[in-house]
Amino acid sequence: MPSRTDSPLNVAIVGAGLGGLSAAVALRRQGHSVTVYERYDFAGEVGASLSAASNGSRFLEQWGVNVKNAKPVILKKLIMHDWETGDVQNTYGLGDYKAKFGTDYNNFHRIDLHKELLRSAFEAPGEGPPCTLKVNHKATAMDPEAGTVTFENGTSVSADLIVAADGIRSICRNFLGITPNVRMSTSCCYRCIIGAPKLRSLGLEDYINNEAIEYWGGFGINKIVMSPCSNGEVVSCYCFYPAEYNDYREDGWNNSASPQQLVDTFPGLDPRMKTLMLNAEDIKMWRLYMHQPYPYWVKGKVCLLGDAAHPMMPDQSQGSCMAFEDAGALGLIFHKNFRDEYSITEGLALYEKLRKPRATRVQDASVRARENLNERIGWSSSGDRPGKLTIEEVCGYNMRDHLKELVDTRARI
Ligand SMILES: Cc1cc2nc3c(=O)[nH]c(=O)nc-3n(C[C@H](O)[C@H](O)[C@H](O)COP(=O)(O)OP(=O)(O)OC[C@H]3O[C@@H](n4cnc5c(N)ncnc54)[C@H](O)[C@@H]3O)c2cc1C
Repeated sequence: MPSRTDSPLNVAIVGAGLGGLSAAVALRRQGHSVTVYERYDFAGEVGASLSAASNGSRFLEQWGVNVKNAKPVILKKLIMHDWETGDVQNTYGLGDYKAKFGTDYNNFHRIDLHKELLRSAFEAPGEGPPCTLKVNHKATAMDPEAGTVTFENGTSVSADLIVAADGIRSICRNFLGITPNVRMSTSCCYRCIIGAPKLRSLGLEDYINNEAIEYWGGFGINKIVMSPCSNGEVVSCYCFYPAEYNDYREDGWNNSASPQQLVDTFPGLDPRMKTLMLNAEDIKMWRLYMHQPYPYWVKGKVCLLGDAAHPMMPDQSQGSCMAFEDAGALGLIFHKNFRDEYSITEGLALYEKLRKPRATRVQDASVRARENLNERIGWSSSGDRPGKLTIEEVCGYNMRDHLKELVDTRARI
């Protein structure tokens, strides 16, 4: 008789973003047969920094992702600047971060991390069978109960488990019967990058050498968030401003702006930051949207993951960390011998129970942090309001213990 370990799941993942790829790696390592379906061929990847706190970095390490190859800058502190003068007003040290939470606080260029996740999912070295990638497969229909997905190119597949990781504008959500309650945020965001040689020539090398996430503003809509990535070769900025300023409504990630447009948006800003802006490259505008938490994440054989499940404001820098946690949860729940403990349906119910309350809490705290930097983990540790999301709660999270608690409770009922 074949052992239960010999009955891998046939898994279909829709979307090869950071979330979908993480799920692929986590499930591959449990011996499952995973195919990832992506609508594009990756030509349009968006470049900007992405910080992975230990609750996300922990999974990257456990999955054997070559974190070093993804050229992180290890963050040493958070710095708050005066909006007008640039003077340092406050610093939150991350010196004991690794000792406290087990991993570094890594700051990646998202393209570097995406590349490493692609390698971990699809190349032969690594635990479990390499996953299969199908690009130019745009999902256009899904039957959650039957476990089937249909693509624009006319093909159709069935699977034991379908992971819908198709991002903030997920179409898969609709097939689960979820109608998102979305409003345009009152905030818009530019993002831009600038290379280290240019910064050095402008006398702004401390923006690289500080190894920090640095903030200007953040009390109200206006906020600049700057951090170095790619082994310190690139600095990236997110620049938030009131949407009413230009009533920007274009949807998408690739809408360009000029340095002058960028700098004109922030009169009265620290002149050094303005110098950076005037020399910035690859400036893009993003319209931000606020999604109310969805009533459920799972239906039939399908679960939502990442931004498809919990799109959030970027102000806690936790969107992809939550996607890594979702993927980590799938790997822990659908481990090699899960059938000894529960069915696929029960496993998916556990997934929702484990993930939804925590991701919703981070989602809520991200909205609060949009206009109040003192709600952002790290800065929120001041303890001035009970119930705040703190760096300890987010980064010190032990998913294995939480899952064990849920499984044990289930066994007792
Ligand atoms: C300004 C900003 C700053 C951020 N900074 C941070 C940060 O510092 N730290 C952090 O943890 N997070 C950060 N985030 C959040 C993070 O970028 C997202 O949470 C994360 O990328 C979500 O990954 P995902 O895989 O769920 O979605 P996506 O990355 O959007 O991937 C979805 C994938 O699905 C594909 N797809 C879509 N529809 C279909 C379809 N019908 N069929 C097939 N494929 C499809 C897409 O092409 C894409 O490849 C930030 C976000 C923003 C906006």
